[in-house]
Amino acid sequence: MRLLPILCALLCGTAWSQALVIQRVAVIDGTDRGARPEMTVVIDGNRIAAVTPWKQARVPRDAQVLDGTGKFLIPGLWDMHTHGTTDLRASWSRLLFIANGVVGVRDMSGPADAGAWRAAHASDRPRLNIYMGSPIVDGPNPPWPDSIVAATEAEGRETVDQQKQRGADFIKVYTWLPRGVYFAIADEAHKVGIPIEGHVPDALSAAEASDAGQKSIEHLTQVAEGCSREETAILNEQRGINAIFRGPNSTVEEKMAAGPRWAAIEARKIDTYDDAVAQALFARFVKNGTWQCPTLSLLRAQIDDPLSPEDPRLKYLSKDVRATWDAGYYKHLPRAARLSVVDSSRKQFAEFSKIVGSMYRAKVRILAGTDTMNPQCFPGFGLHDELALLVEAGLSPLAALQSATRDAAEFMGQLNRRGTIEAGKTADLVLLDKDPLMDIHNTRSIQAVILDGKLFPRASLDALLADAQELAVKRN
Ligand SMILES: [Zn+2]
Repeated sequence: MRLLPILCALLCGTAWSQALVIQRVAVIDGTDRGARPEMTVVIDGNRIAAVTPWKQARVPRDAQVLDGTGKFLIPGLWDMHTHGTTDLRASWSRLLFIANGVVGVRDMSGPADAGAWRAAHASDRPRLNIYMGSPIVDGPNPPWPDSIVAATEAEGRETVDQQKQRGADFIKVYTWLPRGVYFAIADEAHKVGIPIEGHVPDALSAAEASDAGQKSIEHLTQVAEGCSREETAILNEQRGINAIFRGPNSTVEEKMAAGPRWAAIEARKIDTYDDAVAQALFARFVKNGTWQCPTLSLLRAQIDDPLSPEDPRLKYLSKDVRATWDAGYYKHLPRAARLSVVDSSRKQFAEFSKIVGSMYRAKVRILAGTDTMNPQCFPGFGLHDELALLVEAGLSPLAALQSATRDAAEFMGQLNRRGTIEAGKTADLVLLDKDPLMDIHNTRSIQAVILDGKLFPRASLDALLADAQELAVKRN
């Protein structure tokens, strides 16, 4: 009897769709429950209708049934630190995200007008969910084009009001905001009800940003400093070095001389790490509700740079992106300087991993983010790398998974509609061949993705990858 649904489709204006059922699957629903074997999940339209032990499940007639025996179902993944997803030149990246089970991203440098962008892209299919930041809000002489410069407190407040009006989900704050401007932005954002997320500016400590209500800190900016018993001296020294690097009147000799000072300050942070100081900072993050998105893959990328030309994922990149990635992080440096920077990155990576593990044990909230579109940080594939790095840093596989699912949804204020596999939530799901709680690398064993209720079996995911590859050739 299909008359009724068709009638409903006509009256309700929505297309009737066949229910989708995944039977006898092990469900890892994103909550603390862990894995529940032999469950049946019923999806109706774009919602999860029921999650029940398979023997009790009521399978709707005419439903499309997938056999989940031996397989694992997890919530759709979110990459919580990305760039370029709203940029038309990088719109192909969404194919790579979806093919890798990443159903949504937090974009850390959004368009000037989020509302206008959403209206223009409302019919994009397949549609990637985007939690959209404002453009980068920075102080004078910003390093990134398209940043909004806020040089005065008034400009800071104006920017917050404008971005709130235009529908940005949050204000992205950046490294070179002057103190006063930063505090004005934080105050205005609090007044109008929009979160601020991003770097801790050079002019502040991590504790100050946390106290000012910054909702997330990216790349552990100023966090290793805040774990040192010499924080104040280190921050002052860093500001001095930064002033030389950024100073319009600095000579090349002065900049060259500042290089070794930079390596020394990195070493000093590690040498003066003090667990009591660190724990006090972590307790402050917990109390203030400050989340951390450590983007370990970005640091890792700087060690692995440049990638081997054999990396099979490189075929999805266009020539122009390849050129940027091939140049990588250090190609411009003389060999000796390059080796020293890589050595310093390696130590920093170990230190940051240690801090992430410690923060996790101290119950600081953690988000999985890749900083993709930076060289060697792949859209989609990279999120799986980040999950593995989080586990290496000390998170349990379940906690790592939650950092990209339930916790991501909670962070965005969307836990009522996504983030876990529970009745009533949006049907964004990933079906895996192997158990990710046994080995986090198994998040890569993707058998199918369900995005907004629509099923992409493995063959469709491979087709998305083939499309991305074809687009890459066209873009050359
Ligand atoms: Zn970033």
